[in-house]
Amino acid sequence: MKELWGRKVLLKEMNEEKSVDEVSLKMPAMKEVDAKTVQCLRCGQLHDKKNVELYSERYFCPACIQLGRVDTDQQFYHLPEPEPIARNVCFFWEGELTKGQQVVSDSLVDSVKKAESRMVWAVTGAGKTEMLFKSIHYCLKEGKRVAIASPRVDVCLELFPRIQAVFPKEDVVVLHGAMTETYRYTKLLVCTTHQLLRFFRAFDLLIIDEVDAFPFVGNPLLQYSVEQAVKENSSLFYLTATPTKDLMKKTAQKKLELSILPARYHRRSLPVPKIKWCYHWQQKIAQGKHPRVLTKLIRRLVSTNDLLIFCPSISLMECLETILKADFPETPLTCVHSQDPERLEKVMNMRKKNYRILLTSTILERGVTFEGVSVIVLGANHPVFTTAALIQIAGRVDRRMVYTAGEVWFLHDGCTQIIKEALQQIKTMNRIGRERGLIDEM
Ligand SMILES: [Zn+2]
Repeated sequence: MKELWGRKVLLKEMNEEKSVDEVSLKMPAMKEVDAKTVQCLRCGQLHDKKNVELYSERYFCPACIQLGRVDTDQQFYHLPEPEPIARNVCFFWEGELTKGQQVVSDSLVDSVKKAESRMVWAVTGAGKTEMLFKSIHYCLKEGKRVAIASPRVDVCLELFPRIQAVFPKEDVVVLHGAMTETYRYTKLLVCTTHQLLRFFRAFDLLIIDEVDAFPFVGNPLLQYSVEQAVKENSSLFYLTATPTKDLMKKTAQKKLELSILPARYHRRSLPVPKIKWCYHWQQKIAQGKHPRVLTKLIRRLVSTNDLLIFCPSISLMECLETILKADFPETPLTCVHSQDPERLEKVMNMRKKNYRILLTSTILERGVTFEGVSVIVLGANHPVFTTAALIQIAGRVDRRMVYTAGEVWFLHDGCTQIIKEALQQIKTMNRIGRERGLIDEM
């Protein structure tokens, strides 16, 4: 019944249903809080009884229904994690940490030893994953259980082979909503934050990557899942390039330790966005006219690098695509957004340099690396671009070892506080990086 160790699952979610009744612990699936309210014990959400009644005093949870329905007729099956037993763990990594990465890596190992939680605020393109290896290795050697979770499936799929390569003899399982593989017990796993809802007191170390990304940020259900998934004595690591105000508050109150990595592994400062006024960009493009400022800038930037142009809406992006195809007939370009069925193919073709210009919605704001690109944000004053989004977008430039003089431009027709904050944060990180001797002057 290893399958139930540290898990909290319904009977229908189990691979082996037989004999489960005799061996496992049972926990209620829902709880009556008061005469009017029920709570789901998978996702922690409270519901007004009258909204979630199935039939005579039987209730269900709509909040986590995408994982299969929880209702008052069911119960969770669970077995506690066994006591950890120290063991040998094969660790294979030939890379070398930079001075800045080493400091963070050491503090993470330290936190694991003390069972304390820590946020790592590392700039975009800093090389976050490598800094985790030592603390993961330490935990596994102690016989403990480790999970790396991300709100985004694509991040999980990218992390999995890297983790497996470093721990080549470990059985690593990857869990997400669209997988076909059945669950099995492992000491090391990579999963989406939604999958944590099926765990209970499982992990000695839980790492949440991109903690400020959708759908984790501001989602009480996923935050509950994290609290439930860790053991009482455990470490939680949050990784982010753009921490939320909430997390910053926790570090200020010392509820969360903080490590800052202000510089990238290649020791160059973050590109600071240049801001430029672009009069009536929205109206002009909607009328099929190109703003002169924009076309002039594109012409200059594509002479040295490929170009990503971030647009605030799909309709505007499509208008701009038509305009640019007429203006730059020799330059292969396309546009991409989240509903685009060819989205993966287009991104791959941009990476292969089959396109020179890619117009995109905010879907490419994080998680992707292109070689030799410049970036334009068209309408950086549009409300779709938050401070975190602008910092992430600016962070697409100059991520590789080879320097290509990529630039970041924010075009706007009214500079906002959000734009100013993004610039301020980028400059602050560069200043800290210089003070700590982690950045070389060019
Ligand atoms: Zn629920």
